[in-house]
Amino acid sequence: MNINKNITEIQNILTPSECKLVAISKTKPIETIQEAYDAGQRLFGENKVQELVSKHEELPKDIEWHMVGHLQSNKVKYLASFVSLIHSIDSHKLLKEVNKQGAKHNRVVNCLIQIHIAEESTKFGFTEAEAVDLLNSEEIGDLAHVRIVGLMGMATNTTNMEQVRTEFSRLKNFFDKLRGLVLSSNISMQELSMGMTSDYKIAIEEGSTMVRIGSAIFGERNYGNHG
Ligand SMILES: *Cc1c(COP(=O)(O)O)cnc(C)c1O
Repeated sequence: MNINKNITEIQNILTPSECKLVAISKTKPIETIQEAYDAGQRLFGENKVQELVSKHEELPKDIEWHMVGHLQSNKVKYLASFVSLIHSIDSHKLLKEVNKQGAKHNRVVNCLIQIHIAEESTKFGFTEAEAVDLLNSEEIGDLAHVRIVGLMGMATNTTNMEQVRTEFSRLKNFFDKLRGLVLSSNISMQELSMGMTSDYKIAIEEGSTMVRIGSAIFGERNYGNHG
């Protein structure tokens, strides 16, 4: 596995559209992540709180750590002091807890609203209608310690790439629709996090601003790839 080469190849694909690369390092050891860091990579994502916290402690402090997996409210306190972006806000309750913990650390925590775009019922996220209700709700403006900077979605795990494209395209349309609305001042729709190893090229074509890539950088995972 040549991590440096993998990152360079992916960056070459992303650069024309100015899409950002979040290296998903879940299950990978510190030395492997350090290799990606040495290749210039600075955005890393994890899907488990404990792993995120311990890797943050051990690795260089200029890494921006992203939480990409389902986050339980009672674990927000462990990452609120340092997390750069939470991709996976899937309930109002979770957003309120992030706000509360952000306040404790005197930070404004950047968040993405996760939209359920896949066919599978196992994937977390809001429906479009639920997201509109949340973003339009009166209470949202009171959450001074969160900033909603965009949306995240995961396509159906299928070999039918036309279906994947349709799901991404729909999310992009929804994103653009939200950008046209007047929303609370702590909401600014800038980032559209979509695309993983199997579908990131399609995601870029459909307007992704941020791809989350693990296997294409670090190789296959033996476990823990269901988050
Ligand atoms: C694991 C994971 C990824 C990366 O998956 P790959 O197929 O290895 O690129 C992206 N997003 C989320 C939410 C993940 O849990």
